[in-house]
Amino acid sequence: MYKKLFVIFGNPVSHSKSPLMHNFAFKNLEFDGCYGRYLLEDGTKLKEKFISLGLSGANITVPHKEEAFMACDELDEFARIAKAVNTIVLKNGKLYGYNTDGSGFLKSILKFKDIKTILILGAGGTAQSTSIILRNTQYDVTILNRSQNRLQLFTDNGFDCYIFDDFDSSQPYDLIVNMTSAGLSDDSLPAPIGILEQLIKNSKGCVDIIYGKDTPFLKLAKKLGKPTNDGSDMLLFQGVLAFDYFTNHQYSLDEIEDEMKKAFI
Ligand code: NDP
Repeated sequence: MYKKLFVIFGNPVSHSKSPLMHNFAFKNLEFDGCYGRYLLEDGTKLKEKFISLGLSGANITVPHKEEAFMACDELDEFARIAKAVNTIVLKNGKLYGYNTDGSGFLKSILKFKDIKTILILGAGGTAQSTSIILRNTQYDVTILNRSQNRLQLFTDNGFDCYIFDDFDSSQPYDLIVNMTSAGLSDDSLPAPIGILEQLIKNSKGCVDIIYGKDTPFLKLAKKLGKPTNDGSDMLLFQGVLAFDYFTNHQYSLDEIEDEMKKAFI
């Protein structure tokens, strides 16, 4: 048996905690694998790089999930619906694409109680994969994005969608979620501050799926006294599911979670 190689493709990618999580789990579950990070500037080169690096699998982060979707030969149900892939596994010479973000996010918000309505800020790959699964779980989901282009897919799927100019921020939502990359490598808010202040004040809680930093959005929510969560739980849970695919279901999800959690201590 040769050591199986995995990477996370992204840009930026230096902040990613995925290598630490997966390598902890490989080591402690005695799976002969190694996981690194790969700064990919041109997403159209994803398949070529995957093959030339001799990978067995990969995760894909911002901004390449839609290109990863295009690169795959086979897709699971969530990836197909979302048109975005965050996990690829090589099987019999074919690239199989999965999307574990939605299930990971769903599990991560269970700590917030009495949530019925959710406002997602952003309309990228992660918003695509999570919105459908949230709606299938009986949440009422609305999308707010800074620009119109990416909203078409959500409108086609029957979601209420807005850009800042046509949005009524006095409408209350239970949970406000930042699924944009605003705050990831800059200090910007995901929407104009006037809109955010009103939304946060009317909400029961706020989540930023960016992890490992107090983003301007989270700081604002804390300042306004709301319960908050960053993206660490989502990262953990989507990683557990990706690891399950990488290792072809050899371990229980609880075992994987126990090992991966050690990356957060
Ligand atoms: P995409 O590149 O697919 O989409 C980015 C979205 O953010 C678009 O809707 C874009 O709007 C919007 N956006 C970007 N910059 C700004 C800004 N300055 N102000 C307002 N809106 C902005 O990204 P992903 O969906 O793949 O990822 C989004 C974020 O989620 C990233 O920060 C990523 O790190 C994080 N993430 C965390 C995970 C976790 O496990 N915790 C898992 C997956 C993602 P427009 O359409 O106008 O360009």
